[in-house]
Amino acid sequence: MAKKVTRKAGKYVYFFGSKTDGNGSMKPLLGGKGANLAEMCRIGLPVPPGFTITTEVCTYYYDHKRTYPSALRAQMEAGVTALERQTRKKFGDLTNPLLVSVRSGARDSMPGMMDTILNLGLNDQTVEALAKKTNNARFAWDCYRRFVQMYGDVVLGVQKRPDEDHEPFETVIHALKHERYHGDIEDTALNVDDLKELVTRFKALVKDRVGKKFPSSPWEQLMGSVGAVFGSWMNDRAIVYRRKYNIPTEWGTAVNVQAMVYGNTGDRSGSGVAFTRNPANGAKEFYGEFLINAQGEDVVAGVRTPEPVEDLRKHLPKAHAELERIRQKLEKHFKDVQDFEFTIEDGVVYMLQTRNGKRTAMAALKFSMDMYKEKLIDWKTAVMRNPADQLEQLLAPVFDTVELGRTSAIATGLPAGPGAASGRIYLNADRAVVAAEKGEQVLLVRLETSPEDLRGMIAAEGILTARGGVSSHAALVARQMGKVCVCGAAAVEVDYQSRTVTVAGRTYKEGDWLSIDGTAGKVYAGQVKTAPSEIVAGLVDGDEAARKTQKFKSFQQLMKWCSDASRMSVRTNADTPEQVENAMAFGAVGIGLCRTEHMFFEGDRIDAMREMILAETLEARKSALAKLLPYQRDDFAGIFRALKGYPATIRFLDPPLHEFLPHTREQQEDLARKIGVKPEAVHARVEQLHEFNPMLGFRGCRLGIGYPEISEMQARAVFEAAVIVQKEGIKVRPEIMIPLVGFKKELDLQLDVVHRVAREVQAERKVKLTYIVGTMIEVPRGALTAGEIAQSAEFFSFGTNDLTQTTLGMSRDDSGSFLPNYTELEIVKKNPFATIDQTGVGQLVETAVARGRQTRPALKLGICGEHGGDPASIQFFETVGLDYVSCSPYRVPVARLAAAQAALSAKKG
Ligand code: ADP
Ligand code: MG
Ligand code: MG
Repeated sequence: MAKKVTRKAGKYVYFFGSKTDGNGSMKPLLGGKGANLAEMCRIGLPVPPGFTITTEVCTYYYDHKRTYPSALRAQMEAGVTALERQTRKKFGDLTNPLLVSVRSGARDSMPGMMDTILNLGLNDQTVEALAKKTNNARFAWDCYRRFVQMYGDVVLGVQKRPDEDHEPFETVIHALKHERYHGDIEDTALNVDDLKELVTRFKALVKDRVGKKFPSSPWEQLMGSVGAVFGSWMNDRAIVYRRKYNIPTEWGTAVNVQAMVYGNTGDRSGSGVAFTRNPANGAKEFYGEFLINAQGEDVVAGVRTPEPVEDLRKHLPKAHAELERIRQKLEKHFKDVQDFEFTIEDGVVYMLQTRNGKRTAMAALKFSMDMYKEKLIDWKTAVMRNPADQLEQLLAPVFDTVELGRTSAIATGLPAGPGAASGRIYLNADRAVVAAEKGEQVLLVRLETSPEDLRGMIAAEGILTARGGVSSHAALVARQMGKVCVCGAAAVEVDYQSRTVTVAGRTYKEGDWLSIDGTAGKVYAGQVKTAPSEIVAGLVDGDEAARKTQKFKSFQQLMKWCSDASRMSVRTNADTPEQVENAMAFGAVGIGLCRTEHMFFEGDRIDAMREMILAETLEARKSALAKLLPYQRDDFAGIFRALKGYPATIRFLDPPLHEFLPHTREQQEDLARKIGVKPEAVHARVEQLHEFNPMLGFRGCRLGIGYPEISEMQARAVFEAAVIVQKEGIKVRPEIMIPLVGFKKELDLQLDVVHRVAREVQAERKVKLTYIVGTMIEVPRGALTAGEIAQSAEFFSFGTNDLTQTTLGMSRDDSGSFLPNYTELEIVKKNPFATIDQTGVGQLVETAVARGRQTRPALKLGICGEHGGDPASIQFFETVGLDYVSCSPYRVPVARLAAAQAALSAKKG
């Protein structure tokens, strides 16, 4: 890009054309459109000359009661004179009038800003001059009616009223067509006389609505338009948009005044929009559309159906060739895919705008790989070109698009687990499991899910819930397992009693088919066919054909570059060998969080667990724990094997015990029978364990402190498994993590247990084990006293879910009732449970990092909350200096990309 031109004080107008003042790097001053128009001029592209009024004038305008700096008018006059010289036309002239467009231009295009006004400078006299000069009265009057319409609409505010169905100007056109042609004819079929009549009626409409005559003086028109652009910076829509995207009001908008070129002079003219490559699939092909005999707005307005840009080859081969040349030049210069607007006047191509094109994840991946190969960009830029939060799109199975076209959604919910799934519905986990074992494709449908549904969730292709948000149990598990999930689809009525689901007036029985799109949050009736993403098929299923696809290879290349660029590593939150294998296939280098409690739900284990909880004496508890030990040991052994030497952070029991107990009378009686106690005893214990606020209750390390024998059993399971696997020749690196520590003493008490058991196991088995013990930082006291805690802890892992809950004093599970309103009111910018609250929670993280490392410089630091898979949060963790982030298996690629990008932008500063 050209060198930065220094900004001069008191310079409000920047020319582009035969002399160009600005350049592409001046977006803050000239807006995105203005800066790139200047840049295109500099590289010799055919741009109609013009000038940009700077964003500083916008700021001045609002600081000075909506007035302009006194020097502005003279500079604008000089600008118009420059246009007159270059076009050999004159503004307001009665033989060869210059017409201009007035275009708004913030740094990025912004909804709410004033629409463009074309053909400004026309009045009853200049229109005749234009007709005579071009010998094309139809064209001249077409320009005039467009101008009156646009100016009337956007500057004078003649717009649809609440009680009207159509834009008033369109209503006038419609009426005239019906009067004169008895039907809807194309605008291009209107003749001179029709257009003249339209101008008369338009002006009458303006007079009627605003009580003023339509301005005929070109300068009055021009100043009115400039005022309207600046005025639109403060209209409601623009303000709302800026708030939402955090755009400061001070930025202001620029105004571009540009000599008109005409796409509506006849069949050798037209206008269009195009991309230098295909933004949907990334193919290196010219992609876009155009309309013959049309001005710019027509293409997007959808009045006529545009033709693909390739067809220009037939209509106007020279113009097509010129556009091809421009396409190449744009990419060579901007080094990114451009989205541009052009107009063809009598066969000659003019450029009116260019910017970086928006793209899908698929296209972004292909662009980045192709442009690297073409040596347009280096590998670091290629990494930056892939939006991390879109990457999941590439991993999701997809619905067959043809099939989708034949059906429509019956309900909408939150897109909680991306992808597409269809299956026979089951409303209960057990029946879902049985059906899946019989080989059925199953969709688990629940009001909401709980840990008891886990088996059913695993068995199902997808999960649909009627209640719950993106951080509900269903959503969490779906993300962890990479399950397709739509949650909170309120229109889905679930009746457990009759085992039916009713949606949109239709009732589905268990065994009937439904389909869900977890990327879009949509529910479909019946069975819609799906296909897995080649990336997942290649990595997880080892599908050879998938591995040969371009998509797969590109993805692998991107991931390799991510590893080269990253400082932080990426681990996974996983509780089973299968999850570990998946995560490692995606490139995870260890477990950042293994939640041991999930292991207690499977099969009969829950019975032993419940027996342990119900035990009245230490002996009884120990005997129940002894039943659990082999299960847990086997689980850990399986995980250690799957890890192939990578470290595993294992969290000791964390949730409140009542979560493991049966809550209905029936279930309680059932359990009582199984373990041979009285039903009342079970009921009493459940009552006794009831807590008013379990989140802040008897959980975390408090359990291990209250019942050291639980930690003892868990430690033994870890170390015995380590011994077994180590003897098989696989390196084992357990990292035992004590949850919810707020006091150093809490950790110390648990450390004593862990180290004692480690000594015992090593002595019994005569092996030496390598392990470390650390803690989760998830309550504010833990963060604040991190310096002390680090005397005992060998690592910290930030449990940002609980740390957010405890810092904000907000329960994540209950936040659904007020958080949406908080977001609306902008009390919080983003959901703090999805993206870390940097100013609040972030401070605690920073404090804990600083104090922890002061005590123990080699302290290993990670994060294992949901935020570990969120790109914006990962950016923050990079700046804080964590060693790794940990996230659910299917989120690993996203985290790797985000970590790489964070490292690359940290280096740039
Ligand atoms: P937006 O920001 O909504 O894209 P633009 O300012 O780019 O608005 O204008 C929309 C369209 O108007 C352009 O794509 C182009 O076709 C047409 N247009 C703008 N200025 C001119 C001009 N000077 N000559 C011809 N057409 C123009
Ligand atoms: Mg545009
Ligand atoms: Mg926690």
